[in-house]
Amino acid sequence: MCCILNIEARVINHNINKNNNTDTQLLQQILSYVNESVAPCDDFYQYACGKWHEGQQLNSYNEIVGMLDHRVNERLVTLLEQLEQRKLQPDSLEAKMLSFYRTCRQSTNVQRYSKHYLELVPPNAQITWPQFVNSSSHWAANKFHWLETLARLRRYGMNNVLFKLDAQPALKNSSSYVLMLDRPNFESSTQRLRVLRITNLMLQSMGYKGSQYELARSVAKLELTVRELAERTAIYDAPPGNYEELSLAQLELYVGGKWRKYLELLLEQRIPANYKLYAYNVDYLVGLMRLLADWDAKVLASYLMLRFVQHLQFETMDSDERIECAQDVRRNMELAANWLYAEHFLPHEQLQPMQAAQQQLFEQLRAQFLLQLNSNRLQLSTEQRQLLREKILNISLNIGNMPQVANRQQFVRQFYADLQLIDNQDYALNHLRLLEFRTRRWFEQLQQPASATNYFYISDSETAYSSSPYFMLRQNVVILPYGILQSPIWAQDSHDIFKYSLFGFMLAHELMHGFESQGLLYDTHGNFNKLGVQISQSSSYADSVSCLLQNETDYVQEREADIAGIRLAYDLYFGLNSHFNQSQVSFTQLPLKQLFFLNVAQFFCGNAKSDSFVDHDSDELRLRQMLINFTPFAEAFGCQQDRDKMHPADKCQLW
Ligand SMILES: [Zn+2]
Repeated sequence: MCCILNIEARVINHNINKNNNTDTQLLQQILSYVNESVAPCDDFYQYACGKWHEGQQLNSYNEIVGMLDHRVNERLVTLLEQLEQRKLQPDSLEAKMLSFYRTCRQSTNVQRYSKHYLELVPPNAQITWPQFVNSSSHWAANKFHWLETLARLRRYGMNNVLFKLDAQPALKNSSSYVLMLDRPNFESSTQRLRVLRITNLMLQSMGYKGSQYELARSVAKLELTVRELAERTAIYDAPPGNYEELSLAQLELYVGGKWRKYLELLLEQRIPANYKLYAYNVDYLVGLMRLLADWDAKVLASYLMLRFVQHLQFETMDSDERIECAQDVRRNMELAANWLYAEHFLPHEQLQPMQAAQQQLFEQLRAQFLLQLNSNRLQLSTEQRQLLREKILNISLNIGNMPQVANRQQFVRQFYADLQLIDNQDYALNHLRLLEFRTRRWFEQLQQPASATNYFYISDSETAYSSSPYFMLRQNVVILPYGILQSPIWAQDSHDIFKYSLFGFMLAHELMHGFESQGLLYDTHGNFNKLGVQISQSSSYADSVSCLLQNETDYVQEREADIAGIRLAYDLYFGLNSHFNQSQVSFTQLPLKQLFFLNVAQFFCGNAKSDSFVDHDSDELRLRQMLINFTPFAEAFGCQQDRDKMHPADKCQLW
């Protein structure tokens, strides 16, 4: 008897130690980043992240999600190199992934050059790009048709050049995809030509023999003219419903241009003339046709070529290193990479308890938001609240961006069944095939949209290689990439305070994207809903948003999600209805509430320069905005109102 007890005692002890170890390790890591010489009430970012840089200099990533991504890539390298040792069926999924990995590793520089891509993708079957003919005066300008060339380039994923064309869920019926046509955007640097000097260098590297400066200036002038047209004709503040439903025949009549042929080339099938699409900013499209009708064909062709090359540069790592090639497999074959990763690193017995715990946290956050809705700070009508209640109840969680089908392996194999890669070293050739494959699958949603159960996002390559969670507005799904299920963001055997602070905040932030000024426009089915528009335009909601805008931002919806998210996650743990044990933990003297804020804050630590953030404010600004508006933060650290920078008296609140 004694021995059994002893063994049991040892087992129990071992578990306690294990938990303690995890908690202690997490805590030590958190504390190692803290710069105690900074007062938390003065500058919480510097306090929480001041020493983050120490020990990170040698790493290639510059923030916490980057670190997790790096680990995912390392693991994929291991898997891919194991596959190399195995005998694989030539047509198997594993063989296809390995084939692209090998191509990436072994390809010569020449096979990666833009020039090589351009040889493989000419403007059409009859002509090549102007610089590839001996004397550019021999280039057959009359055989160049810009709309046709754009259709060919669109097949490799290039969009937003001269116009945008995409398949998206219909505004009032998210389960059906429609084609949308719109003017292009020029806001971000990837949406326009590079500076003159770079354009010049690009032309040089592509073998352009004439005066590069002259051509660089001519294409820049073309882009500027198109941009001015777009700005002149744009309908600003247009609600998403401001489109015209036009058949192809009508579009060709009103706007001009062979749109039917464009679509047939893009979708590789016959399209009837009465096929409908949704056109925004029709005046712009009319103006564009007129403008380009007598523009120099060589300049126009060169413009499309340069934008195509920029698109390709954005789509590739341009490296044959192991890690970058694994990342390349991930960004070009996301579903396959996710499946392979989970098969080996997240076996059922490990994934299942994590999934259960995260699903539970998700349910708790949902219940917490229902409580907020009931308190009705924004004084919404019963009908309005009912809309939001239904919506929050319908949002689901997808872990790993995977379809919820019984046989995943079969599903994934089927998805890639008609992907044909060439088992050689020609990087451009295989890369183009993958880009084309993804576009084809994307547009197939026009005929066959995914149902709620087999839904997964056919993601763009940037999303595909990132472990950051995201919210799919029209599907009402929060997607949690597998990469996020790692310490320090999620440690299964750690104390709740670790799991419910940072991970809780991340999940709450995504959930709140359904309830910020953009998210509110869509209902429980992801359909545009006028009642939601009413809420976002109501004086109480609009006041909250303009409060947030006192400090300017281009990303107000992100700020809304941050501010609503921190409140939701915090109230779940420490609020009146909390089920969590609030007593002091044994592994630290630090009050739980301080630990909560520190752990959340360190998500924002990093080396990135403040001008390198995309779609968000800088991390430092995000954190400050979030905390200065949240009284419990000031209370947790004993900040003095209006005396300390982190505790102004005027605060903004959303929900
Ligand atoms: Zn966000």
